[in-house]
Amino acid sequence: MALSRSTLPIDRDDTVIRAALEEAFLPALLPALAHATGDLTLLREDLRPAEMAPRVPQAGMSREQQAAARALAFTAITRLRDHGPTAAPPPVEDIVRAVIQWMTGSPASEDYIPLLLEELDPLDQDPRAPSWRKDPATPFSVAVIGAGMSGILAAIRLKQAGVPFTIIEKNADVGGTWFENQYPGARVDVSNAFYSYSFAQRTDWPSHFSPQGLLLDYFREVADEHNLRPYIRFQTEVLSAAWDEDRLWWRLRLRTADGGEETLEANAVISAVGQLNRPLIPPIAGAERFTGPAFHSARWDHTVDLTGKRVAVIGTGASAAQFIPAIAEQVAEMTVFQRTPPWLVPVPHYYDDVPEGLRWVFRHIPFYSHWYRFWLFWTTTEGLLPAATVDDDWDGQERAVGRENDALRRLLTGYLQAQFSDRPDLLEKVLPAYAPASKRLVLDNGIWARTLKRDNVRLVTDGIAAITETGVRAQDGTEYPADVIIYGTGFQASRFLTPMTVQGRNGAVLDAAWDGDARAYMGITVPGFPNLFLMYGPNTNIVVNGSIIYFSECETQYILGCLRLLLEGGHAALDVRRDVHDAYNERIDAANRKRVWGVASVPSWYRNARGRSAQNWPFNLFDYWQQTRVPNPEDYELLGGGELGRPAAGGRGATVR
Ligand code: NAP
Repeated sequence: MALSRSTLPIDRDDTVIRAALEEAFLPALLPALAHATGDLTLLREDLRPAEMAPRVPQAGMSREQQAAARALAFTAITRLRDHGPTAAPPPVEDIVRAVIQWMTGSPASEDYIPLLLEELDPLDQDPRAPSWRKDPATPFSVAVIGAGMSGILAAIRLKQAGVPFTIIEKNADVGGTWFENQYPGARVDVSNAFYSYSFAQRTDWPSHFSPQGLLLDYFREVADEHNLRPYIRFQTEVLSAAWDEDRLWWRLRLRTADGGEETLEANAVISAVGQLNRPLIPPIAGAERFTGPAFHSARWDHTVDLTGKRVAVIGTGASAAQFIPAIAEQVAEMTVFQRTPPWLVPVPHYYDDVPEGLRWVFRHIPFYSHWYRFWLFWTTTEGLLPAATVDDDWDGQERAVGRENDALRRLLTGYLQAQFSDRPDLLEKVLPAYAPASKRLVLDNGIWARTLKRDNVRLVTDGIAAITETGVRAQDGTEYPADVIIYGTGFQASRFLTPMTVQGRNGAVLDAAWDGDARAYMGITVPGFPNLFLMYGPNTNIVVNGSIIYFSECETQYILGCLRLLLEGGHAALDVRRDVHDAYNERIDAANRKRVWGVASVPSWYRNARGRSAQNWPFNLFDYWQQTRVPNPEDYELLGGGELGRPAAGGRGATVR
């Protein structure tokens, strides 16, 4: 599968176009055609989308409106094919303004225009690429830890800025979470058109929500396109990183593929290790006694043939909700141990391939994929936060935290009631008793209910007392025999950067300094740990609104800005001021207490052992973009008084000893 961003010529055969128009998403098609033809009158007021909400078919346009939009589009497409654009397109920012006005009925907030131009990259110019280059004579190198989605991105930006770097990757390939989570049924839950780099959008996604293998291919292809492999030390793990206070650079201890150890020195370290890559196996009594195979969803043992086996699954989170339906048919019987039921969001096309006509539209209509991404950005990001918001005057009902959250609860309750209307016994077990968006919502096309209703599947909610040699014993004493146990029990999300030991100024160890309650400034820098930059660090996860790739792009923008500050100012290092960091975290904490995940008492990886949400970003996406565009030098103590460290002299990346 080659990465394809370009559009192909429009077919001569009108029947192909008419058939494709039946499947096109019209609120994205009309802006695309206005853009391609230069004719903004295509954005007719009488064809404005009725509902700016996610997953509403044709955004609520009536049949008549749809017919009129298709007729208009057909004329525009054939005219474009036969005669080219009607007029030179207006400046792209004017098109963005016109589309926002058309879609929402109100003028665009001017603040948003530059963000959207970056996010959509309609001219394929990668406006987020660094606009500066390091002076080749200045010695400076960066060690990037991890070659997943964030590490690949950091490397691309460093390369574009001419900053030498080395990536250290513990796995045998790039891809991070998409390399590790190879469990059956694994797929993304953010639409591909949005879950992709702004500078590497595709016009040929085969699925709306790609399965794991397709995403792994995507990240491999982006890495190869930027020729990153020569910079990556595969199967090499960072054991520790220590700040050298005299030399003002980092010294990393590595365990290499052959089991040996090496030291690597670098002026700066970018940690791109993710939040969800250390499996959590809960300490259940007797687990070590079980005699059959037992494995975690992120360490799926593909050598174990589940055919005809009795399988016990522990957990019903986002991972289990995908692999349970994928293996249910194959196994002889499955016992699912559920502690807390997930809320399900109905997405009928979640598992569907993009139909042929729609594929044609993506591949042949210029700018369609960009404007579809725009629609997703608008409707599935900022627009969803109110449903996760605490209303101060809410009457205290524990199953919701505010009016919009309650409206979401009623909507999702209705879905579950419909799905399980024939099985009141199951409905009672699957209906959550906590406010939606306290935990990750699970996308569903009906497969969860179909699976739980199968004759060979049973849902146990009594709690686990122990694991025995031959299965699992529930708290009511019932023994459930099992040949295989699969843990869908999530990750140690609060233990950022572990098991690495990271030692900063004055010998401070990061894990101990955090003491189970990780914090950072912008999620990126930590006082006392100069030139350490975190990606997907504390409080940069989102629950209902957006894609982690968006955050990673903002983070790289900020990190590259910090490096520029150092290099152009002749400083060796920067260390975030404690007061700036603390004030920032107070704002984060106050805002998280206004979100449902910050106040809910239900267990989730969104809060640490202290009950604080160290994971989630509580504001909207615009805020993060705005705050990470350019670092403020006053937020930092600049170290080194004009002298840079020299660990990278002569090398492509950081120096190895
Ligand atoms: P998770 O959401 O943390 O779910 C873990 C599950 O294990 C929960 O059902 C939890 O129950 C249960 N569990 C944990 N300890 C237990 C114990 N001692 N006894 C019984 N049950 C126990 O983990 P995950 O499903 O791997 O998902 C983690 C995150 O990864 C998601 O929130 C999402 O951000 C991401 N993810 C995304 C996708 C996607 O894009 N489609 C897919 C998978 C994962 P409680 O709820 O009671 O704690």
